[in-house]
Amino acid sequence: MKIHEFQAKQLFATANVPVPQGVVVTSPQDAGKAFDELGTPVAVVKSQIHAGGRGKGRFKEHPEQAGVVLVKSREEAIANAERMLGSTLVTIQTGEEGKQVSTLYVEQGLDIARELYFGIVVDRESGLPCIIASAEGGMAIEELAEEHPEKIIRIEYDPGEGLQAFQVRKLAYALELDKAAQKSAMSFFPKLCKFFADNDCSMVEINPLVVTGSGDLLALDAKVSFDDNAMFRHKNFDELRDLSEEEPNEVKAQDAGLSYVKLEGNIGCLVNGAGLAMSTMDLIKLHGGEPANFLDVGGGANVDQVTEAFRIILSDENVKAVLVNIFGGIMKCDTIVEALLAAYDKIGITVPLVVRLEGTNVEVARKMLADSGKKIITATDLTDAAQKVVATLSA
Ligand code: ADP
Ligand code: MG
Repeated sequence: MKIHEFQAKQLFATANVPVPQGVVVTSPQDAGKAFDELGTPVAVVKSQIHAGGRGKGRFKEHPEQAGVVLVKSREEAIANAERMLGSTLVTIQTGEEGKQVSTLYVEQGLDIARELYFGIVVDRESGLPCIIASAEGGMAIEELAEEHPEKIIRIEYDPGEGLQAFQVRKLAYALELDKAAQKSAMSFFPKLCKFFADNDCSMVEINPLVVTGSGDLLALDAKVSFDDNAMFRHKNFDELRDLSEEEPNEVKAQDAGLSYVKLEGNIGCLVNGAGLAMSTMDLIKLHGGEPANFLDVGGGANVDQVTEAFRIILSDENVKAVLVNIFGGIMKCDTIVEALLAAYDKIGITVPLVVRLEGTNVEVARKMLADSGKKIITATDLTDAAQKVVATLSA
């Protein structure tokens, strides 16, 4: 689960991680008011979307307008907010379609001496949180990793013990922090590392982490995502969720207890089991097709869930054919067919449908399909199914 910059900064502040002062606004008038409230000679108006690269991003409706701007007066704050609110911001991370901005964060302008990069992710190999840092801030870490991998510092730490003093010194040395900033680092880095573990984060990225003229470290930008599997431990995070930032079908699927991820292709997939879903996608690709989604109905899906699954797949207008691949274990093949036939009647399936069934009650299920009188293509095994569904597209 991702959250907005202003939400991440509010959480940082509660964990005593220093952030600039800021005000959340949703109207140009309030942006002006926020400028006055902050009382700094310069303020920064920042678009709140779940994507980075806003500073370099531009609005579709106002090609000159950046997603993050420095303003020096109340009037300037209002004028920028007017262009930003309700408009669509396109950045390297949003894709061409961009994202509509409905909230702004107005922040005090800081006296920036240095911009650093700091992030924490989970390293799967060691199973530990890993700090990724660099003295080269402001730049995309992916580019830096390609061009100057030697400039990236990696430090793993024990989430139970927290970041140790010797690790902070190592980090401060590698980031070439001066005396004043080193002092600030002794509290900044351990607090952030604790924040990461306490909140079950999957990623924290601060780009840039700045050193101010007076040697203080501050999180100037903040990107935080949480591990969805740990959300039951953080019920209070529910209110941080911004559904308008999520793929509507993925939200619907989540509510129905289905695992669904939208993809770019045109073959809809309805499968039980994540492993089978992955191999189904692989086989579709192997035979020249492109999956439109990953969808795992799970081991114990009922008729309602399967109907919802069909509805979600078919609501994607890119879907030109559907492949149902079921291995009946706990889930019985006849349950799937029952749901499939019900869905057929309820929503009307107009694209070619290829079904491959195997496992518990497969005989009954096949007979139900054959007796249904519906236009359904059956397949004997996975390869056959993949070939048949790809063939429907060229037919
Ligand atoms: P993004 O990464 O989405 O482009 P950032 O929050 O990193 O957004 O902001 C882009 C740039 O704007 C920063 O690299 C920094 O130079 C400048 N900036 C952002 N917030 C402030 C601030 N409070 N004071 C001064 N400059 C800022
Ligand atoms: Mg940034």
